Amino acid sequence: MHRRTVLKLGGMAALGLGVPGCSTVVVSPATPAGRPILTLPVVRASWDRVIRTTVGLRPYRPSGFVLRATKLDDTLLVHNYGHGGTGHSLSWGCGAVAADLALEQGGRRAAVIGCGIVGLTTTRQLQRRGFDVTIYAKTVPPDTTSNMALAGFTPTSGLVDRDERTPAWDEQFRRVAEISYRELQLLVGRPYGVSWIDNYSTMNQRPLDLSDVGSQSLLPPALRTGRDVLGPGEHPFPLRYATRRTTLRIEPSIYLDAMVKDVLLFGARIVIRGFETLRDLITLDEPVVVNCTGLGARDLFGDDALIPTKGQLTVLVPQPEVNYRTSGGITPQPGIGIHMMPRADGIVLGGTSERGEWSLEPDEDARRRVVEGHMALYGAMRPPTPGG
Ligand SMILES: Cc1cc2nc3c(=O)[nH]c(=O)nc-3n(C[C@H](O)[C@H](O)[C@H](O)COP(=O)(O)OP(=O)(O)OC[C@H]3O[C@@H](n4cnc5c(N)ncnc54)[C@H](O)[C@@H]3O)c2cc1C
Repeated sequence: MHRRTVLKLGGMAALGLGVPGCSTVVVSPATPAGRPILTLPVVRASWDRVIRTTVGLRPYRPSGFVLRATKLDDTLLVHNYGHGGTGHSLSWGCGAVAADLALEQGGRRAAVIGCGIVGLTTTRQLQRRGFDVTIYAKTVPPDTTSNMALAGFTPTSGLVDRDERTPAWDEQFRRVAEISYRELQLLVGRPYGVSWIDNYSTMNQRPLDLSDVGSQSLLPPALRTGRDVLGPGEHPFPLRYATRRTTLRIEPSIYLDAMVKDVLLFGARIVIRGFETLRDLITLDEPVVVNCTGLGARDLFGDDALIPTKGQLTVLVPQPEVNYRTSGGITPQPGIGIHMMPRADGIVLGGTSERGEWSLEPDEDARRRVVEGHMALYGAMRPPTPGG
């Protein structure tokens, strides 16, 4: 590159102007109010950086997940399935309750059906209580729905219909959410792919406090970190307001592999086996069977209330310098949110939720809406202008 061009580009960057191929927004150090001005690397969203699109079917039940014990002949059957868009967020707590229910049986041998995040965390909770566990599953990571998740700590997202909640269900939810939040925090800094990250939600209207509205009201205050509201001139996004909250991020490919290693380390066996009927289950000789089959519980246990909520993610070439996530942005269809999560395996773009849709094929219209919405958002990112 010509020296004068380099100097010119350097000068533009120092002024904080967008330089093609340069991902860092360089800005002056403080707003008039004394708040440090936000400096964020720009996500390079473009069609030629797309590396894959994946689809997963969230196991949704309008009345929420099933977490209870029953009898199947002489076997104690513990159900732990139907977590919708919250399986990664709630699995440690649900696993703890399921394992406590398993203790009602005298024996200390258990079969766990399913090797997604719910089966793996339930296995660890059983092992902590002294159980010898065999996992039986039709598929194992990376071929589970759990590998297709975004996956943030979103304990109330796509979990339950408000009209179907009961006080007992809410109480159980709060207990499992608290256990899960604590367990995930303890995995940060170890090789599990769990970390803290700032999430920016962008909007044109001054943000309201919605913590007591809808499913958000389910969440105990201790499970919410504080939120900053950034006004015009205080952030680089092309919408008037942004809120910033620090949240937990889970990187499924790292996390699930680490969990598989852990269950094996503590003595579990993993058997690849699919079950067609309840009769097949009864042939198992473990006195306790824990059902962690996710959407598979619909056919295996005849739970017609369980339906898929299709979710699709499009992944861009990784950008290690991007260490924040966004929710919201510029999309041609207002009301349908989009979001971005940076991970080691790529910049993950999402924002689809189709209830009752069974297809595992990517939807081209949804892909375009999500990718182009992010191209518009990041293409219009500018250094904040104090007072602007
Ligand atoms: C796009 C997308 C984004 C998401 N984002 C988030 C998020 O941000 N935060 C969050 O908390 N959650 C998120 N989720 C939801 C989360 O991924 C699910 O709730 C979670 O994966 C459910 O885990 P699971 O172990 O129950 O099911 P699965 O991962 O589907 O595992 C089920 C296991 O059971 C086995 N199985 C099923 N039927 C049988 C059978 N008959 N015989 C033997 N084995 C059987 C399967 O082979 C598999 O091993 C997201 C999901 C999607 C698709």
